[in-house]
Amino acid sequence: MNGFATRAVHGAGGGVADQAHGALRGPVYDTVSFDFASAEDIAAAFAGRKAAHSYSRITNPTVAELEGRVQSLAGGVGVVALSSGMAAISTAIMALAGAGTNIVAARSLFGNTTSLLTHTLAPWGLETRFVDMDDHAAVAAAMDADTRAVFCESITNPQLEVADIPALAAICRERGVPLVVDNTATTFYLCRAGELGADIEIVSSTKYISGGGTTVGGLIIDHGSFPWSKSPRLAEFAKGFGPFAFIVALRREISRNIGACLAPHNAWLQTLGLETMALRVEKSCHNALALARFLKQLPGVRALNYPGLPGSPYHELAGNQFGGRYGGILTFELAGRRECFACLDRLRLIKRATNINDNKTLAIHPASTIFTEFSQQEREAMGVGEGMIRISTGIEDSEDLQRDLEQAIGSA
Ligand code: PLP
Repeated sequence: MNGFATRAVHGAGGGVADQAHGALRGPVYDTVSFDFASAEDIAAAFAGRKAAHSYSRITNPTVAELEGRVQSLAGGVGVVALSSGMAAISTAIMALAGAGTNIVAARSLFGNTTSLLTHTLAPWGLETRFVDMDDHAAVAAAMDADTRAVFCESITNPQLEVADIPALAAICRERGVPLVVDNTATTFYLCRAGELGADIEIVSSTKYISGGGTTVGGLIIDHGSFPWSKSPRLAEFAKGFGPFAFIVALRREISRNIGACLAPHNAWLQTLGLETMALRVEKSCHNALALARFLKQLPGVRALNYPGLPGSPYHELAGNQFGGRYGGILTFELAGRRECFACLDRLRLIKRATNINDNKTLAIHPASTIFTEFSQQEREAMGVGEGMIRISTGIEDSEDLQRDLEQAIGSA
């Protein structure tokens, strides 16, 4: 098999994307529907006897090109691309759990994911038990016969806690519960989530895959390790589709009915981004490490959090799990909210913007933005303090980023 970078550029087969003209860049099939040769043909497609695109909310050739390319890189038995990372998370959870059941989730998560679980899904009867993912005994203790999934992030955003995926996978396997890992911060390039034991991997393709911050998208990858006959929600699908039950259930019911499909043009842009992802991830991780080392010794910086520094409790785990790279997000602490706002206002190059893993370096004050819907007490419990600034490093020259932050923090 070809290496990661080769497959990212050429796909698994290495063929030409456009059979009609030999175009090296595949076409955008901006179409809703597809013509069939006969009524029998269209009936066969709807019954699943014939593989064919019928309606672009369910499948589309340009979206399928992205899904195939991702599968060749991440592995697994199937990939479904959706309209956003949040669409991927909510669709995956709805495929696994329901009213009267529970999921066990990390107490530190991306703010919108916490909000989805507490504000959106709880009123529909799904309980979430938030636990410290480092406390494996607590994870096991929180699970019971109604637990339908354990959910964590490879590196939490913005707390930068690193999940020990093999250890969590062992607990899940023993209990017969699928492990769902949001691998957005590391992607399948740095973190081989499936090989480490994740059953379902989720990636917001808005970030490193899109690259230039062009489009919002999300991916659900089924690594084929969970026996779906053991899932009360999917047991019926497992009878007919065995290891493909989860993917078929998404296509034929959950993702089809929720309808958060990825637009073909967005899929095309993300396939383009995927081709250069490995290069950009390397540069972004390099910049994050250089910036973390620089900021750590700056007066005014009270604390710095980055798994790449030896002081981080996750340094060794992250190094082993992510091949000696530590991601492109770091946080640092100033005295309080006023100082953070002043620092952000002084930035000249780094953009004041939400989003992570863009080509451009971005800075944000999480407490007043992504986590603003939570009380200060809730934020503190989630590890998001008033003095925290989050930096997502892009692919610029490190020295320019250092100079900009040095003058903004006010110690130039
Ligand atoms: N998961 C993580 C870890 C994120 O950081 C984000 C967005 O920042 C998401 C999921 C949601 O992705 P999207 O914005 O594509 O919906």
